[in-house]
Amino acid sequence: LSLVAVDIGATNIRVAVGDVNSLKVKRSEVTDRLNGPEGVPRQIARMIRSLSVEPDAIGVGSIGPLDVRKGAIGATPNFAFKQIPIVAPLVEDFSVPVQIMNDCNAAVIGEHNYGAGRGIDNLFYVTLSTGLGGGAIVDGNPLNGKDGNAPEIGHLTLDPDSELMCGCGCRGHWEAYCSGANMPKFARILLRSRDTEGGLLMKMAGGDFEKLTPEMIFDAAKRGDGDAVFVVEEIGEMNAIGFANIVNAFDPELITIGGSVALNNSDLVLEAIKKGIDEHLINRKPQIMLTPLGMDVVLYGGLALAGKLSKGTS
Ligand SMILES: [Zn+2]
Repeated sequence: LSLVAVDIGATNIRVAVGDVNSLKVKRSEVTDRLNGPEGVPRQIARMIRSLSVEPDAIGVGSIGPLDVRKGAIGATPNFAFKQIPIVAPLVEDFSVPVQIMNDCNAAVIGEHNYGAGRGIDNLFYVTLSTGLGGGAIVDGNPLNGKDGNAPEIGHLTLDPDSELMCGCGCRGHWEAYCSGANMPKFARILLRSRDTEGGLLMKMAGGDFEKLTPEMIFDAAKRGDGDAVFVVEEIGEMNAIGFANIVNAFDPELITIGGSVALNNSDLVLEAIKKGIDEHLINRKPQIMLTPLGMDVVLYGGLALAGKLSKGTS
């Protein structure tokens, strides 16, 4: 059985082949954003062919928002196109069943089938990356929502009066504070009230906080820079509120965390969440840990989807 898993990201597309037990061979390429809405499905098809397998089924986890009924990526700030069809072109190319799912929803299914969530009926996955999102298994079932976009936790409002605008156009969303893309702006606001001249963080930014990156903030914090430690603590407090909202809404037994920001800075990120979450909780605190599947968690979700599709046809 050859199961193909696809992870469509804004930056990279990853494709893998595996069997029901694990991923075997993986490929990664920079996402084609230049060749129209057909560019992405064409790139995926070419990457699958490069694996020299005859797929039996294809499972796709993708950046959203999705139009699951159309099997397409909807309008997203990441692409200049209104809609990117994924399922139909792949079905046409390979004549096998194809399913697409929001990347975080795929990730939580990957966690449930292959990771730390095996045997756990109430499970939540959070990605802290360029963006911020989540996926849920509720009472043993994946939560999808009417359009396949539940639960968009990055767009929970933490402060409607915030001066931080989210990429979605709303004010004070969780993602506006804590995603890799938005964190530098939050840091600049926090640092206004501090004397940062001559500090390590200011030096790393070349004297201009407009050039701040999440890597600089975490690296300087690891080296004990006071400004960076302050910023990381404030980001951690907002993450703690966000995680408490998840626990209060979903009552999960386990929350796993993935995404590059979390995976590259696990101690700083996890510590702050565990420290700050208690004062915002009404439900019993779940176990909170990094995903053992690392950067492959969405691919494992695609593998689980493909496995289920292949059973449906055989
Ligand atoms: Zn938002």
